[in-house]
Amino acid sequence: MATKYGGYMDRVVLVDLTEHTVENYPWTDEDREKYIGGKIMAAKVLNDHLSGQEKAFSEENWVVVSTGPMTGTGAPSSGRFDLSCISPQTGILTSSNCGGSFGYHLKKAGIDALILKGKCPGHTWIEIDNGEFFFHDADEDGLWGLKSTEGQEKLESLLVKKWGTHRAFGQLIIGPGGENLVVYSAVLSGERAAGRTGVGAVFGWKNLKAISVTGNHTIPVFDPEKNEKWNQKWFSYLRKHPLTGNQLPRLGTAGLVSSMQMRGMLSTKNYSAGQYDRFESVNGETLAEEHNIVNKGCLTCPIKCARTVDVNGRTVKGPELETLVLLGGGICNDNLENILRWNNELDELGLDTISCANTIAWAMEANEKGIWNSGLSFGKTEGLSKLFEDIAYRRGIGNELAEGSRRLSQKYGGTEFAIQSKGLELAAYEPRRAVGQGLGYAVSNRGGCHLNAGYLVILEGLGLYTDPLTYKAKGDFTMMFQDLMEMISATGQCLFTSYAFFPGFLITRPNGIITRIANWAIPHIGWAVRFMNRFPLTLALHLPVFPQTKGIQYAVGMKMTFGRYLRYGERGYTMDRWVSTRFGIRAKDDALPKRLTEEPQDPNDPRTKVPLEKMKKTYYRARGWDRDGVPTERTLKRLGIL
Ligand code: SF4
Repeated sequence: MATKYGGYMDRVVLVDLTEHTVENYPWTDEDREKYIGGKIMAAKVLNDHLSGQEKAFSEENWVVVSTGPMTGTGAPSSGRFDLSCISPQTGILTSSNCGGSFGYHLKKAGIDALILKGKCPGHTWIEIDNGEFFFHDADEDGLWGLKSTEGQEKLESLLVKKWGTHRAFGQLIIGPGGENLVVYSAVLSGERAAGRTGVGAVFGWKNLKAISVTGNHTIPVFDPEKNEKWNQKWFSYLRKHPLTGNQLPRLGTAGLVSSMQMRGMLSTKNYSAGQYDRFESVNGETLAEEHNIVNKGCLTCPIKCARTVDVNGRTVKGPELETLVLLGGGICNDNLENILRWNNELDELGLDTISCANTIAWAMEANEKGIWNSGLSFGKTEGLSKLFEDIAYRRGIGNELAEGSRRLSQKYGGTEFAIQSKGLELAAYEPRRAVGQGLGYAVSNRGGCHLNAGYLVILEGLGLYTDPLTYKAKGDFTMMFQDLMEMISATGQCLFTSYAFFPGFLITRPNGIITRIANWAIPHIGWAVRFMNRFPLTLALHLPVFPQTKGIQYAVGMKMTFGRYLRYGERGYTMDRWVSTRFGIRAKDDALPKRLTEEPQDPNDPRTKVPLEKMKKTYYRARGWDRDGVPTERTLKRLGIL
């Protein structure tokens, strides 16, 4: 192998879907040292390719499927991979992260990343076998038109028939939603989904139904002995931590429903309120006690946050927090069985539950206000299963709902309650009671995503209890958390490993003296965080609460410190933004609907709205972007992007 590093397979493949040909894409150790892998690597490839004129549904929209160097090295929760391209939902650069096994098997096939360009002439699926590519007819093989589980079963039977035996393999597949270009369609891998921002529709437009991958390469590790020892410690640390060792395994992400209710950040009735009076019917405790069959998880994950439930006699993936909240209180539904069923139906159709639920909530409110006569109303949930099908197959009003809440509100009115940013519907955290999260939603590179936002709710009531309504220091912390999470994703690890960043006693002893001091101090140390953001390389150290840095040293052999880790994240985050500015993104687009910035959640407390413009200023300054939200030349040069 030419690379001196562990964790890489030293091959990136450019696949021409139009011509059905493949060639190697040049990617060197110098590139790895700057852009590590995963979504940051993809941002660099797309930065070099995109001019700003490309549309989501065009041959020039390359899709980069990328793994990180930690994928398959045995590090905790390291089976994740990314799909990056221009999103049909936002029209700008996006990256959608997935926990299925595709990334691991791609590396076993000897490949770090795929770049898909062009458009297949007919419905196609691709088989990758130990680095060799085979293009198959998805109509002839009976794959096109199938829902996600049927499709994956069919794929398996086709491969077993060809091989004459069963072999481990990974797969990507789209459902009818992607085939019919619903802008919030997912790509699925097993039960896990790259759900957000509509990458499934880009696959559909490219006539690409599925990709399977198998191989028997060994994934190299730089220092196997130290790597194994470190991973043992790391697994044990995560298992002992109250969030990653208790709350997430016990209740999954759904465990946050009750805390969000208590803090007034449980989005309810299309975000018109932050509490749902029947939340106990649809919270994590009820899900765990009455429905969870067994916990499941992605590859090498000690946390295992996924639930399994029974739907029509089949054991299937249970809903995440977002789905519970947005198809629960979000549309005034307290029937948990319905949510379990809908969650499964949406996965089968290949639709993103968050955007779908929020688009329907918008339509319910628009109908009640007489803006758009859809016949949908809050609390009236009969017929929703059929509506999901209508969306996926673009029938009747489903054809309109398939365009998402931004386009609908631009057409009919009601933009002030279309809960989206840059075209992407927001996640379940009501930001008027967590204003830092509100800032994150607005400035997030891929639109209203809670994770790309920086997930400040962890400071604002869902981990620590710092003042959720103050704007102080929120811009600085948002930048730091975004950069950390950017890098975690890019290495191939799950963002939930970062939950253990906060020492356990801060979580288990909310009234302890140290916790109280921390909660008080956080809004006052923006200046220190700003310094760290600006000069991260001064943090030439490893933090005991952040095992990621030593993990990279042992698995990859790359010199890493906490500061260097932050710098990688900053470079990736800024490059994403830099690409999107070419598509016209400016400060005006870092926005939230008026409901969240102008209407206080509590009419008696004017602080309960997002002071967005104030926070944006400090955020841009922290990032070295100009007042219009464009990275300055100085910043781009400092980060080595120019
Ligand atoms: S914590 Fe959950 S989402 Fe993350 S890797 Fe583990 S099972 Fe997958």
